[in-house]
Amino acid sequence: MIFDEEFETLPREALEALQLKRLQQTVQRVYHTVGFYRRSFNDADVTPDDIRTLGDLRRLPFTTKQDLRDNYPFGLFAVPMSSVVRLHASSGTTGRATVVGYTKRDIEIWSDLMARCFVAAGLTKNDIIHNAYGYGLFTGGLGAHYGAEKLGASVIPISGGNTKRQIMILQDFGPSAICCTPSYALNIAEQGQAMGIDMRSLKLRVGIFGAEPWSEEMRVQIEAALNIQALNIYGLSEVMGPGVAMECLEGREGMHIFEDFFIAEIIDPDTGAPMPHGAKGELVFTTLSKEAFPLIRYRTRDITSLIPAPCRCGRTLIRMDRVTGRSDDMLIIRGVNVFPSQIEAVLVGIEGLEPHYQIIVDRVNNLDTLEVQVEVNEKIFGGGDVIRVLQNTEKRIVKDIKDYLGVSAKVKLVEPKTLQRFEGKASRVIDKRHI
Ligand code: ADP
Ligand code: ZN
Repeated sequence: MIFDEEFETLPREALEALQLKRLQQTVQRVYHTVGFYRRSFNDADVTPDDIRTLGDLRRLPFTTKQDLRDNYPFGLFAVPMSSVVRLHASSGTTGRATVVGYTKRDIEIWSDLMARCFVAAGLTKNDIIHNAYGYGLFTGGLGAHYGAEKLGASVIPISGGNTKRQIMILQDFGPSAICCTPSYALNIAEQGQAMGIDMRSLKLRVGIFGAEPWSEEMRVQIEAALNIQALNIYGLSEVMGPGVAMECLEGREGMHIFEDFFIAEIIDPDTGAPMPHGAKGELVFTTLSKEAFPLIRYRTRDITSLIPAPCRCGRTLIRMDRVTGRSDDMLIIRGVNVFPSQIEAVLVGIEGLEPHYQIIVDRVNNLDTLEVQVEVNEKIFGGGDVIRVLQNTEKRIVKDIKDYLGVSAKVKLVEPKTLQRFEGKASRVIDKRHI
């Protein structure tokens, strides 16, 4: 099923023509309404009239998170506050929060795109959607909420937290879909099991999970724990919020980017040079319709690649692969680049472990140290020689991390349910080197 059949299946040529028209309008608008863009275009010696083809986009300078911070809170808005109907702020996972604004039309389009996402997940107005993304300044809750209403589905605005109540509502209201971070989905499943509830026999059919990196292995775990199909959704508040890209039920391999509203590029994070399709690099977005907070070549710092191959769902929109991490959450440990998601991928492949872990980085005698704490599951205590099993598991993790990532780690197995749980975005890394 496709929500916006016409625009989600446009032939490439028509899509690119539409993109160019919208790009030219956007560039004119920001040049004439936002001082920051006028200055940065002038510095780069480019004017809106220079944008004659989509390729000319590369002549425009990048916009960075630092630019957003420098213009905090409203300096990049392209409309007067009287036209702004909503403000949101990023969750501030890294550094100071950034503020974004929306006009009425921006909210309309965001709702449409979120509705596209729900339909890509096989949902209709007959579904009940349990929305456990946080409501508030974070874009997740309200973004999904408006999309669900746009579709005509019944939305349960439960927001994040109060997990016992979430579980009760999952049982009593029987929603067919759940939206939250993947780590919270696991948390809910685990607490439900602990309460003696068969979390696999709920009415849930599909989960729409995003807002943080997760792995294919984690998908398998969530799907097994909740007996659902787990789909990936991507977005960021600067560009809009959730609903910039969404995996389809038919393909389940990469998220379709809504290219009629956003142009995606992949660049080399070190040099800024464009990279070809399929190559892994930093994702960059230019918005094509936003009124209040347009962005030109915004460096997301998310690391992924683009998949141009056609998808069996019929959408012609390009797909982006899983985000493996942010260029700025990359840990450099004794010179080796390590993303937390790579450690997660190693851990979830090993039997006897729970998908709950913490990474602690420190510097001792000028040498970086990496410690991975991970929970073992109850079953490990059921067998015979528990101590030997634990020792072997620990050795296996150390070896796999060394083999796959090329770094030595100290591994600490901890008892089930002892590491911190998260209700929104998980925060896996404690980097003591900056303290
Ligand atoms: P922040 O976390 O930067 O404060 P947001 O709340 O807007 O701000 O979160 C957006 C970020 O969340 C993205 O840039 C990306 O790093 C991460 N993210 C969102 N969806 C996904 C996803 N499906 N997979 C991986 N990371 C994601
Ligand atoms: Zn598809």
